[in-house]
Formats: sequence, C-alpha cells, structure tokens
Amino acid sequence: MIDSPLLKHVQGYINGRWVGAQSGQTLAVINPATGETLSPVPLMGQAETRHAVEAAQASRIQPASIEQRKQWLNQIADLHIEHQKELGRIITLENGKPWKEAQAEAAYAAGFYRYCAAHIEKLKPRRLQEQPKNHTWTVHHRPAGVVGLITPWNFPLAMIAKKLSAALAADCPSVIKPAEKTPLSMIALFSLIDQIGLPAGKVNLVMGHADQIGQVLCEHPAVRVISFTGSTRVGKLLIAATAPHIKKLSLELGGNAPFIVFDDADFDHAADHLIQNKFRGAGQTCVCTNRVYVQQSAAEAFTKKVVSRVKTLKVGNGMEEGVGIGPLIDRGAFDKVKGYVDGALSRGATRVAGQAPAAPQGGCFFPPTVLRGVTDEMPCTREEIFGPVVPIIEFDEEKDIIQRANATEYGLAAYVFTADLKRADRVVGMLQFGHVGLNTGTGPTPEAPFGGMKQSGFGREGGHEGLFEFTESQTIAYG
Ligand code: NAD
Repeated sequence: MIDSPLLKHVQGYINGRWVGAQSGQTLAVINPATGETLSPVPLMGQAETRHAVEAAQASRIQPASIEQRKQWLNQIADLHIEHQKELGRIITLENGKPWKEAQAEAAYAAGFYRYCAAHIEKLKPRRLQEQPKNHTWTVHHRPAGVVGLITPWNFPLAMIAKKLSAALAADCPSVIKPAEKTPLSMIALFSLIDQIGLPAGKVNLVMGHADQIGQVLCEHPAVRVISFTGSTRVGKLLIAATAPHIKKLSLELGGNAPFIVFDDADFDHAADHLIQNKFRGAGQTCVCTNRVYVQQSAAEAFTKKVVSRVKTLKVGNGMEEGVGIGPLIDRGAFDKVKGYVDGALSRGATRVAGQAPAAPQGGCFFPPTVLRGVTDEMPCTREEIFGPVVPIIEFDEEKDIIQRANATEYGLAAYVFTADLKRADRVVGMLQFGHVGLNTGTGPTPEAPFGGMKQSGFGREGGHEGLFEFTESQTIAYG
C-alpha cells in the first residue's frame, strides 16, 4: 500500500470537501512495476458527477478577479515545485515511468500554471475602433461555464495542468476525471490545491465509472466545454454524445508520428533525439515516434547508431536508480505491443535490437526493440504502438516520403532531420501534423500551442491559443 503525506485523503473532492463513492465501492490502483495494489479509490458514477457539476455551477455566482486567478495559478505552480519529488514518486508508483522522468513531469506541469499566470492579461476586455457607425465596441472573454476535464494515464499531472491552468485563468469551475489507472497523482494534486483556499465548487474531482461520469458531463446543460485527452475511439464517442447538446469540445487524441531522416542529416544527433523521444514513458506518449523513415543510402549507418544506443538502455522498476524504461501500463498493453512486433517479424521484418519479451511476472516489462525491413502495410506502421519499439522503414525520394508520412488518419506530431533547410521548409510545409520537430525530437512546451490535425483531434493547449480554450467572446456595441 502507498504511504504519502499527499494522500491523507484517498477520495474524490466535491464542493470543497473530500468525499467517497455513495455506493461505498472502490477500485484498486495497481503498481505496474510490481503488480501490487497501491490503494483502493472510490468508484463513483452519475450521482457524484451530477453533485460535482451542480457545485461547480453554484460557484459561478462569485466571479474571481484576474489578479486573484493569477495568484492561484502561481500558487499551484509553486506547490508543484515544492512537492516535485513526492508528486514524482506517486506518478512512478502508479504509472511506472522512471522517477527522474516523473519529477520532470511535475516541473513541466508547473510551467502551464506559470504560463497562464504570466499571460492572463490577454483575457482582459479589448476595445475596437469601427467605421462608420461610431459606436464603442468591446470584446469580453467570458468564462464559458462549467468545464469537464478528462485525462489519460500516461501523464497524470501534465495533462491536467494543460487544461486546469487555462480553465482557472478563464474563471471556469471544473469537474475533473482522471484515468482509472492513475487517480492517485490527481488526488495528491487536489491535496495541494486544497491548501490555497479556492472557493468551494471551483475545482471538483470524481473518479470511477468512465461511461457514467462521461455521460453526465456530456448531457448536463451546465457543462459547456469538455476537454478530453485520450484515445481517438473515446474522442469519437464524446463527439456523438455531445452532438444533441451542442457543446464545445477540445480533443487531444492519438498519434502516429513519423520520424524522417534524410541522408544529409547528422546521424548522431538524430539518433540521440530519437532515443529521447521514443523511449520516454516506455514509448507510451502521444507524441512519441511511431515509425522511423530513413533514406535508403543512410539506413545502414543510422540503424547502427540507433541500435548501439538502445543496447545501453536499462529496463526496470522506475524507482530504481539508473532505470531509463519502466514497465508498460498493464498486461493488455504488453500483449498489444508484442502483437505488433510478432506481426512485423512474421511479415519479413528483422529484430536488430531487443529480444523476445519474457511472459510478465508482476510487472509488464518490454525490452526496447528495433526492427528493420518494416513496410508501410504492417500494423506497427499503421496503428499507434504505444510501446518501446522502433520500426525502421526505408524511403527513396522526398516527394514520396511526404505522401507516405501523411498516409495516416492521425496528425499529431512529426519529426524531420536534414541539413538542407530549404528542403526542410518544403517538407514541413506539406506535413499534416500539428507539431513538427525540425532537427529535434522535442515534444510540446507551455509557451506554444499544441494539438492535432485530422483524427488526432482539435483545439489547442498551451500558448495564447490555449488560454482562450475555455472562454466565449462576447461583443458589446455601446450606442
Ligand atoms: P482512453 O481514451 O482509454 O482514456 C482516456 C480517459 O477517458 C480516461 O480517463 C478514461 O477513463 C476516459 N474514458 C474512457 N471511456 C470514456 C467515456 N465513455 N466517457 C468519458 N470518458 C471516458 O485513453 P488512454 O488509454 O488513457 O490514453 C492513451 C491514449 O491517449 C493514446 O491514444 C494517446 O495517444 C492519447 N493521448 C493523447 C495526447 C494528446 O495530447 N493528443 C496526450 C496523451 C495521450
């Protein structure tokens, strides 16, 4: 069982109070590195979610000033840094990622609150000049209403930071639903937020039956925006469920990122960035490379550099010193990733790093694997692998690779490595992905808008664009 000063209450949080499930039922949170139960958490459903939405709606009667919101945002950012180690430890225990990486996630999450605090003035009303009516016009950025925030397990603190920072900046009360596998990091965050004296109902936490909680958020008239990060499958369900109610949705969905290496690239640099990008969270991130395209003449040399780096990676329990890759989240994820590797091998690919994974005992550890001779038709190229597997595919011509990189229903992240900046401009301009790394494998940052094209979703988080996600513009003409 987990023991943490940030987990004195392992409960939901509604209207400023810690609460359990009305049914008294609980759900076990499992440590993916050991298979041990960390804690039971309340299994909530429709009734608790309705209560949370109503508390959130009631809190709207007392709007908060921009100065007040800025102070809250900075306080939350400070608390992330003050408790970075313990927040990181809780993330590692329930998600599996290495402790160092989990601490970096807490700092990254703090950056979103800090960013919104620093730029909140952008939400002040603006005056317009107009001709020839000679009225005075003002645009107000009003809070949209109660917002539902639904997050996945792969970044338990960062994904809520992107949403909650903008919701608080806009003065929208929220009802938050964490993933079933990683609710403890969210509970720990609420134990910190509880200290800053937000008005009751401003932030609410429910967890448990995803479909029931989702249904109330989709149907309750007070909920005006749902911001969701997760799979494209669930994103589509939310589009259908909110359609009769005309709600604003912000959807951060799945990806299938190409990593394109031209033969004039710096191979050492590209290989270093591939390793950092691909193996973060054991390959379970939405922006991590899914397929590596290498120009034919460079394939041999580049693969060697990748393989030599992969062989140095240490897999194990994320709490152990020196571990770079933790377990996959659960047995289902392990079987899925194994299926992609076996499928590629049976269709003619070769494993050039890694070995056949041992059947999981306790933790679902998967050896970092590099495959050569992969083709566009294999499932590991077409679908999101979400595991530590690098499929290497060869290409010949520039125009050919643009078309092949875009041949996916996803459009989240892509990476291009080349020394020719004119070519880089041409290629990047044609890629249908919301985030492109040019000679870098870096993921998003609080200062820049991030989001997908095509079936990777719509809406933006971070940057000025993200600040406006939970606002409605109201235009007033003074006669
Ligand atoms: P998931 O879609 O299974 O779950 C995400 C969240 O939705 C969880 O909290 C889950 O409980 C909830 N949920 C499930 N069914 C629901 C329903 N009917 N109504 C309301 N909520 C429901 O995804 P996951 O497995 O937790 O996360 C992995 C996926 O998330 C991957 O596809 C990954 O690419 C994607 N992701 C995208 C981004 C991004 O920024 N685009 C970031 C992280 C993860």
